[in-house]
Amino acid sequence: MKRACLVLILAGIAARPSVEAAGTVFTRGPASCHAIAFTFDLCPVSEGTGFDAPLVSYLIEHHVPATFFASGRWIETHDAEFRRLIAQPFFEVGTHGEAHAHMPRLSATAQAAEVAGPIRTLLERYRLSATLFRPPYGEYNDTTVHVAEAAGQTTVMWSIVSGDPYKKLTTAAIVNDVVGRAKNGSVIIFHANGRGWRTKDILPLVYAQLVTTKGFAPKTISGLRAGCANATAPLR
Ligand SMILES: [Zn+2]
Repeated sequence: MKRACLVLILAGIAARPSVEAAGTVFTRGPASCHAIAFTFDLCPVSEGTGFDAPLVSYLIEHHVPATFFASGRWIETHDAEFRRLIAQPFFEVGTHGEAHAHMPRLSATAQAAEVAGPIRTLLERYRLSATLFRPPYGEYNDTTVHVAEAAGQTTVMWSIVSGDPYKKLTTAAIVNDVVGRAKNGSVIIFHANGRGWRTKDILPLVYAQLVTTKGFAPKTISGLRAGCANATAPLR
């Protein structure tokens, strides 16, 4: 999975995902809203803990609204960690596919099953109704968006890729890049599965510059979609 994350990041650094699709894909919030969204993917990992506990502790300690996109296989091996996330009123969770598959390579039926897996888990095991879906690797096509909509999901991408799984990027390089590119409504992607190698160091620095200094309001994806007038509390 390490290789997979690298592929995602290299693709993200080169350009935002080039695959366009008709339908509802949320990439950024309104330009009129001086707010940003911190998002964290929870892709399955084959080694390590698969959970960036120091990062999550920072977010909790500072009550930072954040949106996590969890894959079914990650949830399967991280029940306690997932319960810790959903216990925080300023966090929200979306899904990230069951097996972290390359969606455009799958048939419509297989894509629907990949989307549905963790949605069913959230409902049956945690009594949560998921509404936000982030395609693994940021890869999607028209079929992906269609099957996600049919399952009651909004496909959520991002407008700023942090590059946190890319080991060669230093903390300073990522912080400067993210801060420099942030604008009203930006959706920033990080990882909370331990494959964001320096995310726990990066986040406090990004938060200090964007939130404390520049005054961006941190919001969940639902909060950003709801607009500036609404509170940051996630909609579950
Ligand atoms: Zn992922």
